[in-house]
Amino acid sequence: MKWMTVTEAAEYARRHPRTIGDALRAGELHGFQAAKKKGARKGGNWLTSAACVDAWIEGRDCEHQLPAAA
Ligand SMILES: [Zn+2]
Repeated sequence: MKWMTVTEAAEYARRHPRTIGDALRAGELHGFQAAKKKGARKGGNWLTSAACVDAWIEGRDCEHQLPAAA
């Protein structure tokens, strides 16, 4: 699996990074927050995958399940 940062995903999808972030938080686009410290209220930067971005752009469901955000 190739993981992308929000910036990379925005470039890949040709969308604004804020649009990517909104979609991630809304659960429309699969992703998880990396490097989340145990007990921390806020997680790290979001990561998503090219496959998930493809599905999101095309408006179809992504077949795979990402690891739980924990
Ligand atoms: Zn996915």
